[in-house]
Amino acid sequence: MIPLTEVKVHAPNDWQSEIRQMIRTPEALLAAVELGEEWLDAAQAAAKLFPVRVTPSFVSKMAKGDPNDPLLRQVLPLKEELSSPNDYVTDPLNEAEFNVSTGILHKYHNRILTVTTSACAIHCRYCFRRHFPYSDNNQSRSQWHQTLTYLAHHPEVDEVVLSGGDPLMLTNSALTSLLNEIDQYPQVKRIRFHTRMPIVTPTRVDDELLALLASKAQKIIFVVHSNHANEICNTVRTVARLLNMNSVKLFNQSVLMRGVNDNPEQLRQLSESLFDIGIQPYYLHLMDKVEGAAHFTVPDTEALKIYRQLRASTSGYLVPQLARETAGEAAKTIVSTPT
Ligand SMILES: *Cc1c(COP(=O)(O)O)cnc(C)c1O
Ligand code: SF4
Repeated sequence: MIPLTEVKVHAPNDWQSEIRQMIRTPEALLAAVELGEEWLDAAQAAAKLFPVRVTPSFVSKMAKGDPNDPLLRQVLPLKEELSSPNDYVTDPLNEAEFNVSTGILHKYHNRILTVTTSACAIHCRYCFRRHFPYSDNNQSRSQWHQTLTYLAHHPEVDEVVLSGGDPLMLTNSALTSLLNEIDQYPQVKRIRFHTRMPIVTPTRVDDELLALLASKAQKIIFVVHSNHANEICNTVRTVARLLNMNSVKLFNQSVLMRGVNDNPEQLRQLSESLFDIGIQPYYLHLMDKVEGAAHFTVPDTEALKIYRQLRASTSGYLVPQLARETAGEAAKTIVSTPT
């Protein structure tokens, strides 16, 4: 493996202390971005539904004094969250139905999604799992053994998606035990992490984690989650390089959102910034109808127009697939556009 210490990384270099220092209240978030009291009442009310959480690293990439900053919009609770249209619900993807056993969602033929932890390093206001019953799906280390026996009865599963929450909120030692359990099932050829941490707490990708990933026989894939080019700072560039050098395959998924990335120029910049550092654009998701997040929705006709303009402005491989989750389908629905 290629050690982190060969490359200069700026402090804080201990991800666990960054997590301890994370912003957890509307007051602290508003103070950090130098916004006034007028945002506070609504933010406090909305934060009762889903608490504020954001890392110092992510906040440092926001402009000061700008309530419309596209990174701030993703984490600042707004009054709009308090009034949802009736068709915006707590489980828009009907995940309860696919929650086949504690901590496992088996929705698509060859891959299972495992809920490894409920914790995230950031709380995204648009998250479709903001209402997920994590307390029923929390896994202790000894439970993983039991949970993964599901694989013994499902030989068609050749890929395990580690999700959550964010699987990289687990310590290296907990991840080591989890990956060792997966090693017991040679049918599993690929292990995929769905994680926002390389973007919001890039120092999470430390030497020990790189060594662990490099030691694995299975192909390791990271699907990171970045919505705007401003999220791609120097530390993110460094860790993307290290992951690439250690043969981790990198993809990105984004969500198309009002006030964050709802124009073709921003999407093109995001794709280029990602591709420059070896991350392949993968999905651009249309918003799910999740209670509390209606204000992020870009109507379909407008979304298709933006997507057509994106395709007209850049190389085909820089265009992510426009996808929607439809309950009951065999795969995510790819929304196609005539050129
Ligand atoms: C999105 C998703 C996957 C992964 O699907 P891909 O199209 O392969 O990225 C797997 N399981 C569940 C439950 C999902 O929602
Ligand atoms: S990091 Fe992912 S799972 Fe966690 S709140 Fe954000 S979108 Fe949801």
